[in-house]
Amino acid sequence: MTVDLHLHTIASDGTMTPTELVAMAAKQGLSAIAITDHDTFAGISEGRAAAKAQRLEFIPGVELSAYFRGEDVHVLGYFVDEHDQLLNTKLKQLRESRELRAHRIVEKLSTAGVNLPWAAVENVAQGDALGRPHVAHALVQQGVVQTISEAFERYLGRDGPAYVPKFVLDLEDIFDVVHGAGGIASLAHPAHWGVGIETITTLKDRGLDAVEVWHIDHTPDDVEGYLEIARKLGLLITGGSDCHGLRKKQGVVLGTLDIPDDIVGPLFERAKEIRAGRQDH
Ligand code: AMP
Ligand code: ZN
Ligand code: FE
Ligand code: FE
Repeated sequence: MTVDLHLHTIASDGTMTPTELVAMAAKQGLSAIAITDHDTFAGISEGRAAAKAQRLEFIPGVELSAYFRGEDVHVLGYFVDEHDQLLNTKLKQLRESRELRAHRIVEKLSTAGVNLPWAAVENVAQGDALGRPHVAHALVQQGVVQTISEAFERYLGRDGPAYVPKFVLDLEDIFDVVHGAGGIASLAHPAHWGVGIETITTLKDRGLDAVEVWHIDHTPDDVEGYLEIARKLGLLITGGSDCHGLRKKQGVVLGTLDIPDDIVGPLFERAKEIRAGRQDH
């Protein structure tokens, strides 16, 4: 059986509801899933309830960003307690700054000669973590560009005229806050930054627990390489498609990666240990 531990819902920048994702995962015969929206837990309770009804193992998650050596590095927090106060305070701060940033992106678009009504962005973003994919989608709907990818290439990407950096947390902060909320921190899609064993060793020293080995953008060589690195460093392994529904060029990729289900047991074990440690305090 296979699993998929990296999924976005309409709570952030995906296009499927938690219930739709779970139904599709069950139909495909997956044994476990994790919902990992950017900066919000808004999809978790619906996802958990739907998964329970389908007898699918469910892991609550969240995807956070940090600047590390000049790059926007993503960290997945798994098994985090979605009621943890400090984590929720941080998430709220991140979501509020996303909203301000989206307004600034719209302003910059206007300066670049593209008039995008704010209502068009709000109309696309149904959840509470506003991101560039929503702005991109609105640009497609308004006929400014043909595709989401084109919106990133021409306007929203790092070198684009409407690029506004995102407010992010410090890497240490992410590790601390994830651990404080009883969770496990995994380095998302490491091939995006091409990080190797040296950098991952540094991250491990700072608190990283796991590496995302399987991802839609990882080649078979990446998978093999990161498996090897995780084994050498004694890190846990995770994997997921990073499905965003229809808001990414690969489309609905949920469950397409053949991620072995035996990665899940060790994650549950570690989460149990962390929880036991928290209760000792
Ligand atoms: P944000 O968190 O608002 O900076 O948006 C980042 C999200 O945009 C990522 O998680 C991806 O889902 C998406 N993204 C980044 N680059 C691209 C791209 N070139 N084409 C489509 N989606 C992208
Ligand atoms: Zn995303
Ligand atoms: Fe990511
Ligand atoms: Fe993601």
